[in-house]
Amino acid sequence: MTKDYPGGCACGAVRFQCSAAPLAMYNCHCRSCQLASGGACAPLLVVPGQALRIAGHPKRHRPQRANGNHATRLFCPECGTPLLALPDNNPAVVLVHAAALDFPDGFKPVADIWTVDALPWAHMDRHIPKMFKSPPILEPEDEVTL
Ligand SMILES: [Zn+2]
Ligand SMILES: [Zn+2]
Repeated sequence: MTKDYPGGCACGAVRFQCSAAPLAMYNCHCRSCQLASGGACAPLLVVPGQALRIAGHPKRHRPQRANGNHATRLFCPECGTPLLALPDNNPAVVLVHAAALDFPDGFKPVADIWTVDALPWAHMDRHIPKMFKSPPILEPEDEVTL
């Protein structure tokens, strides 16, 4: 996936731009991602928070069943598109919902994570690793506030 990739919600009220290559890409099967995505899992990119710029005012929600991996979710208040998630356990990164990218074709998951919550009807690529819960924390750098 190239550097500099834009994204946004379905109605255009919230846009974002990332200026760094993702640190990792995961399919997250946790219950919170199931609810946020409406599917069996959420395809997520882990990006350095410093590289992300947001235009618009996404609404925040902290799920009751928050896990450390992605505790606060950001979505468009107008159309409801899930956009980003902020992990408690690593303030240096932001998780981007892959489907919100303008060009989501480049998404290539390196692992299935939170398979403890995986649904029996989830189709997983058996050639990539499975992690029961959160993946290892990636290189925390400077804290970011969005
Ligand atoms: Zn929208
Ligand atoms: Zn998740």
